Amino acid sequence: MRRSRRRKPKLAVWKFASCDGCQLTVLNLEDELLALAGAVEIAHFLEASRATVRGPYDVSLVEGSITTPHDARRIRRIRERSRYLVTIGACATAGGIQALRNFKDVREFVSIVYAKPEYIETLSQSTPISNHVRVDFELQGCPIDRRQLLEVLTAFLHGRRPNVPAHSVCMECKRRGVVCVMVARGVPCLGPVTQAGCGALCPGHARGCYGCFGPMETPNTASLATWLGRLGMADASLVRVFRTFNAGAPAFRAAAESHES
Ligand code: SF4
Ligand code: SF4
Repeated sequence: MRRSRRRKPKLAVWKFASCDGCQLTVLNLEDELLALAGAVEIAHFLEASRATVRGPYDVSLVEGSITTPHDARRIRRIRERSRYLVTIGACATAGGIQALRNFKDVREFVSIVYAKPEYIETLSQSTPISNHVRVDFELQGCPIDRRQLLEVLTAFLHGRRPNVPAHSVCMECKRRGVVCVMVARGVPCLGPVTQAGCGALCPGHARGCYGCFGPMETPNTASLATWLGRLGMADASLVRVFRTFNAGAPAFRAAAESHES
């Protein structure tokens, strides 16, 4: 059989401030990983292998947020060497849980936590990758969904836009025939303002959604907050409910701020 001389596209996976959970989703592709490895050259993926290949790269997946001056310089170099740059997860698309620092004085944390605070070089804010460089696509979730990741990878390898829905978790509940936990049981749920991707995992187990996929397109957070208030949620709780993995996402950030006293 004649071997194809066509060069395989180079895939690189990069990590910034994060827990590695989204990179683990890449590894968890299991059945699909062999096919993927056959279709692309995995040129840089330190979670999987120490072997690396020099860029430029066709597709770079970037996990994690920018939290240090070194991060900010490094992401610019990665952008220069990447044809397409896709951010994966709440850290990379919204600053992650570490964006909670954005609402406090980070110098105070550093002075309390570290014995030698003068050795710590950090930025006052944890910011998404798109605050620093041009991003071709943002895949939300904490962690991301493996089926959506496959769709995004396939799309970029074939030069088309990914087909990832921007509608809410509520739509996924309806598709699954899951009874609404908020209407039927009075359970607080962020499903009406959270982007689809998990298949309505939590409502499917009779639990409310806590928004790990981040804001959907044009979320009506004000209306949801009114309903959560009717279920007994006080302003302090409303602040906390919007201030989790996607605290830095503009829609959730504004929703939390509007209930701060
Ligand atoms: S988005 Fe969540 S799972 Fe992914 S790296 Fe950040 S904290 Fe971990
Ligand atoms: S918290 Fe919401 S978005 Fe996250 S898995 Fe549960 S239902 Fe899905």
